[in-house]
Amino acid sequence: MSETPDVLILGGGIAGASLGAELAADGAAVTVLEAEDQPGYHATGRSAAHFIECYGPPAVRAFNRATRPFLESPPADFAAHGFLKGRPLVWFAYETGRAALEALTAAESCLSPLPVEEAVRRCPILKPDGIVACSVEETAADIDVAGLHQSYLAKLKRLGGRVVVKARAQAVRREGGCWRVETPAGAYAAPILVNAAGAWAGEVGRMAGLPPIALNPLRRSAALLPAPAYEGFEAWPLMGDIGERFYFKPEAGKLLVSPADEVPVAPHDAYVDDMALAEGLHRFEEGTTVTVERVESSWAGLRTFANDRQPLVGFDEAEGGEGFFWYAGQGGYGIQTSVGMAWNAAAQLQGRPVPEPLAGLGLDRAALDPRRPMPTALGH
Ligand SMILES: Cc1cc2nc3c(=O)[nH]c(=O)nc-3n(C[C@H](O)[C@H](O)[C@H](O)COP(=O)(O)OP(=O)(O)OC[C@H]3O[C@@H](n4cnc5c(N)ncnc54)[C@H](O)[C@@H]3O)c2cc1C
Repeated sequence: MSETPDVLILGGGIAGASLGAELAADGAAVTVLEAEDQPGYHATGRSAAHFIECYGPPAVRAFNRATRPFLESPPADFAAHGFLKGRPLVWFAYETGRAALEALTAAESCLSPLPVEEAVRRCPILKPDGIVACSVEETAADIDVAGLHQSYLAKLKRLGGRVVVKARAQAVRREGGCWRVETPAGAYAAPILVNAAGAWAGEVGRMAGLPPIALNPLRRSAALLPAPAYEGFEAWPLMGDIGERFYFKPEAGKLLVSPADEVPVAPHDAYVDDMALAEGLHRFEEGTTVTVERVESSWAGLRTFANDRQPLVGFDEAEGGEGFFWYAGQGGYGIQTSVGMAWNAAAQLQGRPVPEPLAGLGLDRAALDPRRPMPTALGH
């Protein structure tokens, strides 16, 4: 075993890449071990790529807010361009979703009520039938996910960090003050181990011999349909049913539709369940004027949540958890929170308090503690 970095990170998705880069910027020697032959193969490469500021539980919203300015205008040595392209989000509610949308709109300054006719004017395939309320987040955006992820990996490598692919951790144990990780690409050890293994984070915790923490990988599917023949189609908003029955938006000249499904599954290389997709496309057809004649491509990915749907960030205080840092449960927000989450976690790993602007946004690390009291089942 020749590797003795300060920190080993398991997982090279957006979580591992962004935290690794921030730690390297602080002078730490970092090695990222990625199971697949390319980082970004799992959730990070399968997202719908939106930035929605008013989406997610409280800590997630603080991370969204902290992340936005960086994505809009990153430092020149990180990227030549910003990663956001404006695309407003229009939420629409049927009777069952009315109270939820009204409460959300009242609570969030980034949302404003929108007349139903205006929502239909902005997206003419939306059928107004049954829609009782709409709201708009004008500052929502598409994220260049691949660009962001690659920029983090480049920063990590520029600062001396390593990314080892085809290096799935198969055994993890504490030995001589270090975490020792066996992989097909060799054995690695470091005093600190970051668990950024996405859907597999629960499995990694168990492999390390720690008491289990409930993490729920939930499958979500998406499909690309041919673009409807409307002038100005590319500028349509992201349109979302507040009841999370489906959402859709233009995507590279096609129409991306997701059934917004959340099916609990074991961690795996996710694939589309044809029935779930067909049901979701049926809901989309009922809510729009589109008849789906052809699906051009489809995919699925895993959004992984703790039972309270807030991320897990912090050292494990359970017996045997010394030096084991959880960085998991990013759920459906791991891209749009990545920058702020990495700033906070890098500071935490080095014993520093919550950095600005997160401290000013009220971020409470206790709410992210991996051993915090948790509901016994996954909440909504
Ligand atoms: C359909 C869909 C739509 C989404 N839309 C959005 C969106 O619009 N906006 C947003 O912000 N988020 C969105 N998300 C969520 C976002 O994609 C995730 O929160 C984010 O990608 C999680 O990043 P990660 O690095 O934790 O996980 P991953 O990208 O899954 O990375 C984890 C990595 O760990 C590796 N790994 C696993 N086990 C081991 C091991 N034993 N050893 C070494 N490596 C291991 C895996 O190979 C993987 O590469 C969406 C997700 C899906 C599925």
